Amino acid sequence: KLYKTQEWVDWCPGCGNFGILNAEQMALAELGLDPKRTVIVSGIGCSGKIAHFVNVNGVHTLHGRAVAFATGIKLANPELEVIVNAGDGDQLGIGVGHFVSVGRRNVDITVIVHDNGVYGLTKGQAAPTLPRGVKTKALPEPNINDAINPLLLALASGYTFVARTYAYDVKHAKETIKAAITHKGLALVDVLQPCPTYNNINTKEWYDKRIYKLENWDPVVRSESEIEDKITKAYLKAREWGDKIPIGIFYQNEAVPTYEDRVEERVPTYLKNPPAKQEIDKNGKFVTSIENILKNKRV
Ligand code: SF4
Repeated sequence: KLYKTQEWVDWCPGCGNFGILNAEQMALAELGLDPKRTVIVSGIGCSGKIAHFVNVNGVHTLHGRAVAFATGIKLANPELEVIVNAGDGDQLGIGVGHFVSVGRRNVDITVIVHDNGVYGLTKGQAAPTLPRGVKTKALPEPNINDAINPLLLALASGYTFVARTYAYDVKHAKETIKAAITHKGLALVDVLQPCPTYNNINTKEWYDKRIYKLENWDPVVRSESEIEDKITKAYLKAREWGDKIPIGIFYQNEAVPTYEDRVEERVPTYLKNPPAKQEIDKNGKFVTSIENILKNKRV
């Protein structure tokens, strides 16, 4: 209850977003995260409303920019737990540059993609994960573009935790989100999320027949020599799509330094005294003594 707000949840009946919301609230509760030290950053789209429904700090930002806002928040105050929620249209369409760039930095945040293949809020246009040739009921013609595979893009961009789950398997989604949040480094959770209103192809029945959980699968890199093998296996497994669709954690490597660690290496006071903890005066201006800085630099 601590993580639920009083807002009316106005998604369509049967929307997969309900499963993601429940899974995320349960994950936060089971991890015992302090709502005051947790931030959900959302983009624009049906998924973006989630920032209003979870009782933590919420920032409902611009289309495609949630990851950029989240990066700024985390770097300003690395003590915060920062989670991004946005759709595949938001993160892999207009926001794809940020989605890739944050991978190169390995910022210690969690990125959750509400992956339904359509722009639900604007009446179901084809979004980046809808395969070419698929004609949903909202499209006048079959989709002309090829689909982006979020897992492959994340692996290629440097994400150090790459997972897929399913909105109607709330327990699996909750466990996957928990693992992503506790991972030290940048985590992707791609959530297959039926949109019953506009995507009449990838429905619950369609997914229920195909989805299976990864078993006898060890995604964790424990030494440098394992990287090549584990990332190659993750690539191949992530390509599996059609009659069978795997869900689970495909790849995890905590040996890569986070962006926060990299900044700390250059600015040894960064983690102790990040921007959010710096003194400001009553007008909100930084209290920085240029004199003192220059004095310290004199040789
Ligand atoms: Fe969910 Fe689709 Fe309705 Fe949006 S349009 S709330 S994604 S079912």
